[in-house]
Amino acid sequence: MKKKDNKEKSALNVMKGIDAPTSIDENAALRFLKKKKREINVNQLVDEILGGNKTSLSSAITLIESVHPKHREPAEEIIEKCLPNSGKSIRVGITGVPGVGKSTFIETMGIYLTKLGHQLAVLAIDPSSQQSGGSILGDKTRMELLSANPQAFIRPSPSGTTLGGVARKTRETVILCEAAGFDIIFIETVGVGQSETTVHSMVDFFLLLMLSGAGDELQGIKRGIMEMADTIIINKADGDNIKKAELARREYKNALHLFPPTESEWYPKVLLTSAVKNTGIDEVWETINEYIEHTKANNYWDLNRNRQAKYRMHETILDSLKSGFYQNEKLKDQIKMYEKIVQEGKMSPFLAAKQLLSNYYDS
Ligand code: GDP
Repeated sequence: MKKKDNKEKSALNVMKGIDAPTSIDENAALRFLKKKKREINVNQLVDEILGGNKTSLSSAITLIESVHPKHREPAEEIIEKCLPNSGKSIRVGITGVPGVGKSTFIETMGIYLTKLGHQLAVLAIDPSSQQSGGSILGDKTRMELLSANPQAFIRPSPSGTTLGGVARKTRETVILCEAAGFDIIFIETVGVGQSETTVHSMVDFFLLLMLSGAGDELQGIKRGIMEMADTIIINKADGDNIKKAELARREYKNALHLFPPTESEWYPKVLLTSAVKNTGIDEVWETINEYIEHTKANNYWDLNRNRQAKYRMHETILDSLKSGFYQNEKLKDQIKMYEKIVQEGKMSPFLAAKQLLSNYYDS
């Protein structure tokens, strides 16, 4: 495992192997954060975001991702000011194991959508980057064409925080991207951990990418993730793989039949794509539109969004309680001391927690 250097710890981490995409002006964002003396002009930044300025959007996201406490207030103000202009996009979650073709698919689909006149933002949630400092999503050349597309905006996963922290930041980033005029938001995650549930809780439509063949149809991806999928895509359905992909499609269709009916009353589809040969992409888009029509007609669309808002409120409360506790200067040394006592078996973890909490409320 490689050691993080300072640059890698930055929220502005850009993928190795390619130039910084035009949508991320790293230097401008850094300069922005370094404005120590001058006040961050929130109103101006918000106006620029609403005007679709990607550099300002990047800077505001950098502010959201910053762990510096003094950035929190302007970040919150920007979010509040952007909120009235948010909510109008289609939010799509995309997951699948590494190598299934997520970035190739997003690039092909993204180019297709921008040709239709859409503005697409691609955000990533990558749980690996917090644990190892390396990143499953970021360590390779990704989406070069889409990065250069003026109608697209690609933002890699913020690093250096917990999954919960990344999720909060991604939710807030969605609001800013919507206010900047992006009408489709892709949130990509690696289908290997708990991050799918997090992504599912912030999107309208959830796509699961799978591979055919090797008799390992249901391997790697947990049943729970399949149950969340609104559509399963068998990718790499090209060349010698087509027959196997069709077989896999039948198997998945049968497997999905065994799942209980969903609250949205939508029957998940199984589609075949080749991100490399550009086939099946239009069908995916048609399916997303069918889903929107279906769930708007039966009110599930609003129900789901409202529920997500409630969830977000509780998540924000928990987040704030947690950071209030752990960032409390008076407690920092005490926490270390109690950790030591607990590890040495001199006090039960429950009693230690109780005492620390009581000290926190008294402080
Ligand atoms: P990710 O890790 O899920 O983002 O996967 P990538 O998009 O990086 O793709 C992994 C590998 O699969 C790359 O070598 C791609 O060129 C290849 N690949 C992706 N999509 C397809 C496809 O539709 N057909 C074929 N034959 N190869 C593909």
